[in-house]
Amino acid sequence: MMGVNPRSSRSPPENDFETALQSASSSAASLDTEPWPIPLNPLPDELLSSWLMRLAMAHGVKVQTFSSLTWPTKAVWNRDIDKSADREFISVLAHKSGTSLWEAHATTLSAYEGYLFETLNRFGPTPWLLPVGIYHRVRQRFGQQFCPFCLREDREPYYRRRWRLAFMTSCERHSICLLDRCPDCRSPVNFHRNELSDSNVSFATSITHCFNCSLDFSSSTVSASTTPVTTPEVTFIQHLLIGLAHGSISITNQLDVYSHHFFAGLRQLMRVLALPNQRVANLRQDLDRRFDVRLNTITRQNTKTSPNLEGLDIDQRHQLLNGARILLVDWPELFVELSTKHRVWSSLWLKHLETDNSRWGRTQRTAPFWYWKTVYNRLNRRRYKPSELEISAATQYLHNTKGRCNKKMLADFFGAAIAYKRSSKQ
Ligand SMILES: [Zn+2]
Ligand SMILES: [Zn+2]
Repeated sequence: MMGVNPRSSRSPPENDFETALQSASSSAASLDTEPWPIPLNPLPDELLSSWLMRLAMAHGVKVQTFSSLTWPTKAVWNRDIDKSADREFISVLAHKSGTSLWEAHATTLSAYEGYLFETLNRFGPTPWLLPVGIYHRVRQRFGQQFCPFCLREDREPYYRRRWRLAFMTSCERHSICLLDRCPDCRSPVNFHRNELSDSNVSFATSITHCFNCSLDFSSSTVSASTTPVTTPEVTFIQHLLIGLAHGSISITNQLDVYSHHFFAGLRQLMRVLALPNQRVANLRQDLDRRFDVRLNTITRQNTKTSPNLEGLDIDQRHQLLNGARILLVDWPELFVELSTKHRVWSSLWLKHLETDNSRWGRTQRTAPFWYWKTVYNRLNRRRYKPSELEISAATQYLHNTKGRCNKKMLADFFGAAIAYKRSSKQ
């Protein structure tokens, strides 16, 4: 058995753990049942599934058995329990582990609601939450990231809740890129399947081994394979985490916004930076040249669908975060300067906005005000409407100088999409 935290460091009872657990869970899902024999508390920022795994290990039973005894009517491991755990699930967990309801709820991804995103979609995509893609209780996607140094330094290794977030591409403590898969066999992290990797053991004894090839994620070999990140990157991540915890983030000295409004704007910046648009590509190259942020390996995506930030791999998210970080420096001057230079106008910066169903009972596409205000006031080319006379003059001019005139040439001449509409009437 692994070490347990001070609260539970007493010796386990002599009798069979599973029997004790079974009796403590005999009328599971009822708050009248006995607490578990070993009431472990979650560690700082521990993720729900990691806590469940440590509880099962402390009791010497398989996590599947542990879960089905406690919540016989609930599917726990064939869905993303970190995201989907409901109030009843958390109540039982809090009671049986001797933890406060608030502390138990704080291990879930739903507790980010109102801080990181406006509304949680319990069974669908939610902004910033990395999907784990469960199929037959196995996580197929790379949504469980980790820092090998953190795992290595932990007295009792555990997975942080923040490692499930799309902007967490680096460890703010160790200044390295997080890993999102086993560096050896490239499998996604499935720490809840560890007991299945060895038929000789009846329950998991470690949370840090790869379920597929048994590589220890907390080993020095894994730590040595990590990539360092720069100080400004780490400072930015720290700024985001502090803002997330407080519910408000400073964009400039004069501008503080609610954290979920900030994160909505940051996410939009990253999603637009990922667009396969030539003007955006020019802006990315400029950022790359001037600020030495690697932004040139963004892969081409389908232009007809909105960029799926949470579906991108960690390296691409890392690049996009760096690009957005630079654009936020000296907000909004550098952003406006670069956007104007590369003609990335408001229509692009407001493209594929998130749908918000919660406003006024109907579907809206909204941008946070701090972001929209700059984009609309400073980068809105549509505000300029050339008159019929100007269009005629421009048409004449283009015929004289270029020998021809079409809609695109007119639009380029005015730098305005409005020219398309007007000239098409002629
Ligand atoms: Zn770390
Ligand atoms: Zn592996």
